[in-house]
Amino acid sequence: MRLEGKVAVITGTASGIGRAASLRFADEGASIVGADITEQSNHATEQLVQDAGGKMIGTTVDVTDDASVAAMFGLAEREFGRVDVVFNNAGVMLPGDHDALTTPDDVIDRTLEINVKGVIHGCRHGVPALRRAGGGSIINTASFVASVGAATPQIAYTASKGAVLALTRELAVIHAREGIRVNALSPGPLATEMLMSYLDTPEKRRRRLVHVPMGRFGDPAEMANAALFLASDESSYMTGSNLLVDGGLTAAYVTPEE
Ligand code: NAD
Repeated sequence: MRLEGKVAVITGTASGIGRAASLRFADEGASIVGADITEQSNHATEQLVQDAGGKMIGTTVDVTDDASVAAMFGLAEREFGRVDVVFNNAGVMLPGDHDALTTPDDVIDRTLEINVKGVIHGCRHGVPALRRAGGGSIINTASFVASVGAATPQIAYTASKGAVLALTRELAVIHAREGIRVNALSPGPLATEMLMSYLDTPEKRRRRLVHVPMGRFGDPAEMANAALFLASDESSYMTGSNLLVDGGLTAAYVTPEE
């Protein structure tokens, strides 16, 4: 098993990528502390992992609250003895997020607070925990929108994911000699609640798929597989990288005809 004996702290585990990663990592032998602001659905993830024979403790955490993030790492070390993997995955895409002319300040502030400050909090408390374990892997979820621009913008979200990429590189350099690796995972468009509620008509979905050479949305399980590689020792010479898992989107200039 690829994460045998390891302990992973994952945020945003109530749905989507976080839930898929909890199941996949546990299946590969990791013990999971899975955190989300949404208690009930997170409990459902915990149940799914346990039903599949895995170990997971679900905990209610708001990643914007530093004390709450500190408590999440305290729980992991208390219950499982160490932390080897930190997957800062929780994020939001808020209504009202459009271009620089129209996006309200409260939408910008809230997006940056969760998507950027939340990741920094995870690193602030994750790095000391990984040090105590003698090293480990941090994975920060960015997005393909950090690498390419769209004419249907979400300016706050895009800025937040660009920040995640930049801070990932910097932290990778700072902690490289301590055996702590820091990489970003950049998903392409996925068939999760987050994106489908934004692309809420068949026409909007079709327009987005025009840009994906593979011609389909990704599945959270495909992101979990990529995160598993970054979490495991198989990626031992990778740090400061941006792993794009996007159906070819960022490689495309013109995509195949329908
Ligand atoms: P999702 O909405 O299914 O999952 C995100 C989770 O984060 C939710 O369970 C939510 O409750 C949780 N969360 C939100 N605010 C929180 C907070 N303050 N504290 C703790 N938890 C909080 O979406 P997903 O698609 O699984 O997204 C996971 C990550 O992937 C996000 O960072 C997202 O930006 C990124 N991403 C998604 C897509 C996509 O197409 N879905 C594409 C690129 C990147």
